[in-house]
Amino acid sequence: AAVCAASVYIVRRRMQSSGKWARVIEILRVLEEDCATPIGKLRQVADAMTVEMHAGLASEGGSKLKMLISYVDNLPSGEEHGFFYALDLGGTNFRVMRVLLGGKQGRVVKQEAKEVSIPPHLMTSGSDELFNFIAEALANFVATEGEDFHLPEGRQRELGFTFSFPVKQTSLSSGTLIKWTKGFSIEDTVGQDVVGALVKAMERVGLDMNVTALVNDTVGTLAGGRYYNPDVVAAVILGTGTNAAYVERAHAIPKWHGLLPKSGEMVINMEWGNFRSSHLPLTEYDHLLDFDSLNPGEQILEKIISGMYLGEILRRVLLKMADEAAFFGDSVPPKLRIPFIIRTPNMSAMHSDTSPDLKVVGSKLKDILEVPTTSLKMRKVVVSLCDIIACRGARLSAAGIYGILKKLGRDAPKDGETQKSVIAMDGGLFEHYTQFSECMESSLKELLGDEASDSVEVIHSNDGSGVGAALLAASHSQYLDDSQT
Ligand code: BGC
Ligand code: MG
Repeated sequence: AAVCAASVYIVRRRMQSSGKWARVIEILRVLEEDCATPIGKLRQVADAMTVEMHAGLASEGGSKLKMLISYVDNLPSGEEHGFFYALDLGGTNFRVMRVLLGGKQGRVVKQEAKEVSIPPHLMTSGSDELFNFIAEALANFVATEGEDFHLPEGRQRELGFTFSFPVKQTSLSSGTLIKWTKGFSIEDTVGQDVVGALVKAMERVGLDMNVTALVNDTVGTLAGGRYYNPDVVAAVILGTGTNAAYVERAHAIPKWHGLLPKSGEMVINMEWGNFRSSHLPLTEYDHLLDFDSLNPGEQILEKIISGMYLGEILRRVLLKMADEAAFFGDSVPPKLRIPFIIRTPNMSAMHSDTSPDLKVVGSKLKDILEVPTTSLKMRKVVVSLCDIIACRGARLSAAGIYGILKKLGRDAPKDGETQKSVIAMDGGLFEHYTQFSECMESSLKELLGDEASDSVEVIHSNDGSGVGAALLAASHSQYLDDSQT
């Protein structure tokens, strides 16, 4: 944060002299002020997060944090074996995969995957259209199954379904969609059993497969992370959307009226993207972005952290600068008025431009907004904006993680003991936006302090959610009692 602030300061100082810049600087200054996340504020956010976690666990609807029960009360042990499919639906792409699990020695013996992009119109049309498309892609993938993936005689194929939206689970393998997020909006799916919808679509395309587990991507990532590392206690997705899941003690979940699991534990899907608090630093841009969104009033934390929105916030600030301070000259570049035209990967590319004349920034602005030329001064402003917007998101994600660690009593070293806490992370923002992930990790260290930092580790669980879903399908296979397993 210190670094972010300093660069903004320098840009501001250099510009104070010239006329039209006064307004640009003012807009920059207000943004910086409204986005500020000093450590004290992060602590307030973390504390508010733990308070809401308690409330969400206490009763259904007790908090904006849904703290959804995943029905996963047993994380992978390493013993899982057999041949399983997984389907991962969550962002603009979805993935189908098959894995061959070899038990403790073999682990993942073989794995094949295919990524399919979802035609944008399917994200906002009808439920059947979307699920038909998915089932078809899955059937096509199954058709390419080679001999390496051998299914014992008479067995049905089994699937772990990663569905990365808020779902009220009714069992490990069923659950109803609470609402769509991340640009999806298909009314007739809401309130429906998403496994039922998938199964019907599979029947329509003549695909015979049992959906054995339905999991959120955070839960899949937690399972995938735990498979390789027994110290994994939580998983966080920083991608198109954002969310976290963690392992809770079953008796700390008052709203759970089911049997106490043998493990004494239950994985909770927090749906932290829907967190909001008076402590969150929100700007005029955030309010308008929310107002114009497909889900106004919802997913407020997600809208200031995640990859779907960061570039859009940047666009909104630039539009204001163009409108009110002639930032791009006398007229506003028409492209700048198109929502979501600046995507977060482009923002990341501009943010990480290290060339002295910021030529990446220049060429991105040219490509995306069709502004033929920009001055170095302008490009520096753009980098400062990226810095302010990304740092806020990164620091708030760190505060969220710190909140979870606090809830688990893992935010400070326990006397005598060194208990390691590992957070499995995944998502494009974490993986590809270097400034974001670095700022997130350094902010987490700042919150934990030197001593506790040593016991907390963030790891990248690459595509863990797919493998995780397959693992959970394996450990809940309908053939589990067969001699073979
Ligand atoms: C969804 C979560 C998901 C997260 C990350 C959010 O929009 O509500 O269920 O885990 O995105 O994919
Ligand atoms: Mg994903």
